[in-house]
Amino acid sequence: MLRWLQNFPHFLQVLYDATHHALAPFRRWLKPRGIVEKTFIVAEEITKGALFNCQMCGQCVLHSTGMTCPMNCPKNLRNGPCGGVRANGHCEIIPEMRCVWVQAWERSRAMPKYGDDIFNVLPPVNRRLQNTSAWLNEFSGIAQKNPAGWIDAQHISTIQR
Ligand code: SF4
Repeated sequence: MLRWLQNFPHFLQVLYDATHHALAPFRRWLKPRGIVEKTFIVAEEITKGALFNCQMCGQCVLHSTGMTCPMNCPKNLRNGPCGGVRANGHCEIIPEMRCVWVQAWERSRAMPKYGDDIFNVLPPVNRRLQNTSAWLNEFSGIAQKNPAGWIDAQHISTIQR
């Protein structure tokens, strides 16, 4: 419906920041429970569904992926494409669809603030957060909790020194 807006990632980046700034003062009430949670889930299903074909993973990484939802990759890859991208940039599983990661890369180049976040290696998605509110998970800190054993790239370089 509104998916064409994904081709304006700079605008979406501004919209993301504006939403974050608008919600931040209410952080202490933004907990994933009760009516607040129900309201956010419905709101995200409607708005992010229309814009990004959001799959409600509950751990949104759009600003790291060129405002392109990685959960639309048939393999749900969160860290770049598989080895099967076709020569025309289309998906090996759904040949009529452009590879999500080809689009993510192209769009990330048009995002001055978050574009290079695409180089960060993301932790595995927490499947227990499926169908929960990504905004509430973000503000409550749940989304930032990495699985046991996950060591991010920054930590690895500290260990290697
Ligand atoms: S919350 Fe997850 S499924 Fe929804 S747009 Fe963000 S990354 Fe995609």
